[in-house]
Amino acid sequence: MAKPKEKKAKTGRNGPCWCGSGKKYKDCHLAQEEAQRAEHLRLWRAEETLFPKIFEAAQTLLENFPVAFAQFWQDKYSLEELDSLDDQEQRGAERCLTWFSFDHLLADGRTLVETLAQTPEQIPADLTFDPYEKQLLQSWQPVRMRPYLVQEVQKGKGFTVKDLLNETLSVVTDQAASKRLEVAELLIAHIVPIGEAYHITGAAAQLTSDTYETLRDFMQMHLLDLQKTQPTATMNDLAQQRSYIFNHLLMSLPHEHNPSILEDILLQTKVALQLAGQSVAGIVGKEEQKEEVAPEEEPNSGDAVEEHFPKNQ
Ligand SMILES: [Zn+2]
Repeated sequence: MAKPKEKKAKTGRNGPCWCGSGKKYKDCHLAQEEAQRAEHLRLWRAEETLFPKIFEAAQTLLENFPVAFAQFWQDKYSLEELDSLDDQEQRGAERCLTWFSFDHLLADGRTLVETLAQTPEQIPADLTFDPYEKQLLQSWQPVRMRPYLVQEVQKGKGFTVKDLLNETLSVVTDQAASKRLEVAELLIAHIVPIGEAYHITGAAAQLTSDTYETLRDFMQMHLLDLQKTQPTATMNDLAQQRSYIFNHLLMSLPHEHNPSILEDILLQTKVALQLAGQSVAGIVGKEEQKEEVAPEEEPNSGDAVEEHFPKNQ
């Protein structure tokens, strides 16, 4: 049969179903697949309407802002400066509000998103949620601002990230972000499930690949600090309780690559967390060991990223 090429890939309604049942596609998987697509589309639309509602709810909790704001910005800015932060700190106001909604613990120990999912009547904003928005809220409760490593990019479609706290891989559907991202770069973002898919919600920060080691060591130091009071704490606990530290790192990063500044950041963090004298396995012991073995070798964080996650993978 000499059929035009473009028809080849399509399963016709009257053609045999791809599943091999022997039935026509329209009598077999067609209805189920159409329903799935429609469901998926409704969830994507629900994300667009839900996110502004969450921000609206956040703005009714003004009394929580000063403490949250100081924590997120490490006292660097006052609340009055909020409007200027989108310019000063790469969409800082939006990132801060996203963090406030998903991460900041309110008086009863729950986040705003958790409260909206469980007991929305407690939030003074007069909001109603449709079933799809409710479904998203339920699945968004565990989401926190977390660091991710970009593993694979499909330009114009999406990308795969590895969660640096628990090594989980997620395939993110995001056309705009996929055009800006490169393999081995880092993201500090809220990645939310939308049905079976994932999406970045709110504003995210993008870091160059040479910050990978700094980020990893920084996380390790903060975990050691958390373990002083919670000996069994994991990286996941760190994200659940102190995700604001990732913004502290973002604030201190240089705008241009400068290895000595990256080392200073770690040194300052070590001192601030009073980890300097500790011999626990982790950043402190590791660094000293490295210097003893090969003192002439310049540490190069960029190489390490290449080594673990080659670009031609
Ligand atoms: Zn079928």
